[in-house]
Amino acid sequence: MRLVLLGAPGSGKGTQAARLKEYLDVPHISTGDLLRAEVAAGSPLGLQAKEVMARGDLVSDEILLGMLRDRFSRDDTRNGFILDGYPRNLAQAAALDQLLADLGQKFDAAVQLTVDNEQIIERLAGRAKAEGRADDSPESVRHRLNVYDQQTAPVIEFYRQHGQLTVVDGVGSLDDVFTRIVEAIAPEKAVG
Ligand code: ADP
Repeated sequence: MRLVLLGAPGSGKGTQAARLKEYLDVPHISTGDLLRAEVAAGSPLGLQAKEVMARGDLVSDEILLGMLRDRFSRDDTRNGFILDGYPRNLAQAAALDQLLADLGQKFDAAVQLTVDNEQIIERLAGRAKAEGRADDSPESVRHRLNVYDQQTAPVIEFYRQHGQLTVVDGVGSLDDVFTRIVEAIAPEKAVG
């Protein structure tokens, strides 16, 4: 099963992706996690990305594509993946299509988790306290939501037009949202 998860910061992509990974037995590829690992390692790429991420802006398409190419060159992605945090703009959506075409793969669905902005702000304020992520300050959260609305809305439209979009209500308990996603993607039909 090859899935792309779409949704605003705080929409629950990461949490649901971690569960889907167990359920579908495919790797969870989070571009945010990959970038945070680079920052933590102090790599040249991480040094470049650090400030951009703290502001809540998007890291360059070039860096992201390089990182993804690398990740997709590993064998564990052959039978599927859950991509979380990518694509975030139209150029990235096109780059992903090309990358998968090069690998002879197609993804099964782009799942959009919908949560209204008010609830997102509440959730991220909670996460800021719990995890202390550098980009969960109120200014950065507001900015990330704006970036999301401006840059990622066209991505959602792109997948809708390609008949690949599945919209799932992201409000409710973790279990409820997970069940909705599983029902929407019907893995028993798509596995293999
Ligand atoms: P969230 O969705 O909660 O903002 P992520 O962990 O997905 O969290 O991303 C954190 C930050 O990492 C983003 O604000 C951005 O700076 C950077 N980032 C992650 N994925 C991408 C991407 N596909 N393109 C550009 N920047 C990205």
